[in-house]
Amino acid sequence: MNVKLIGFTPNPEKLPAMAAKLTHSKTKPEELDKSSDKELKAILEQVVGLGHTSVIEHTCFTFAISDVSRSLTHQLVRHRIASYAQQSQRYVNLNEPCYVTPPKIAKDKKMKKAYDETMDTIWKEYNNLLELGIPAEDARYVLPNATHTNIIVTMNARSLMNFFELRCCLHAQWEIRQLANKMLREVKKVAPIIFKKAGPACKSKGICPENKKDCPLYPK
Ligand SMILES: Cc1cc2nc3c(=O)[nH]c(=O)nc-3n(C[C@H](O)[C@H](O)[C@H](O)COP(=O)(O)OP(=O)(O)OC[C@H]3O[C@@H](n4cnc5c(N)ncnc54)[C@H](O)[C@@H]3O)c2cc1C
Repeated sequence: MNVKLIGFTPNPEKLPAMAAKLTHSKTKPEELDKSSDKELKAILEQVVGLGHTSVIEHTCFTFAISDVSRSLTHQLVRHRIASYAQQSQRYVNLNEPCYVTPPKIAKDKKMKKAYDETMDTIWKEYNNLLELGIPAEDARYVLPNATHTNIIVTMNARSLMNFFELRCCLHAQWEIRQLANKMLREVKKVAPIIFKKAGPACKSKGICPENKKDCPLYPK
């Protein structure tokens, strides 16, 4: 899996801070960028701490994600407050086998061999169908959930907070959890105040919506 932050709103923390200041100030919006960095930082820390997170919607982040499974992207695109562009299986022929192997299968030699053989059979059939003149949009019906895909995702910071709460959780499926943790590491580098408490709900809110008392992260 490759995850790269390929774009974000310039001054990702200044804009939400200006928006927050606007709500409690007589200063005209176009004058807000003259506020000191120190003042804006303090305002942002306060609103984020209080959970008044509508202001962080003004900041967006774009990620390039490659070599993940269609299982992962099926879960990812359920997050509706986002924009997506995904590699098409109608227009791109996936002639070479390209798929994710779950670690629990990869660590068992016998299982891994059977898994790889199944994938080879599937791809042979996919290529057979293409050779027989079946269009890629139909041949792809034999491809598995494990098939590699590439996707570009843009989310605003508030939607990302929700995404991290749901998908960094130990209860989330391993592949999307891996993605969420990688995305979180990236955004923390450029927006450390906004994402200071970001992560599973046990970290960001001190609650466990799943009520998994046996989880090592269950809030004390
Ligand atoms: C561990 C786990 C297991 C899951 N299992 C399943 C499953 O078995 N089957 C399944 O179908 N899904 C499953 N999901 C997906 C889940 O139900 C959500 O669809 C997904 O996590 C997206 O979350 P979201 O709606 O909060 O995000 P977004 O779509 O980004 O929405 C963000 C927030 O905006 C608000 N919102 C968005 N759209 C609307 C709307 N139309 N009306 C009102 N408010 C809205 C809500 O407050 C929402 O929380 C699972 C998710 C997790 C994390």
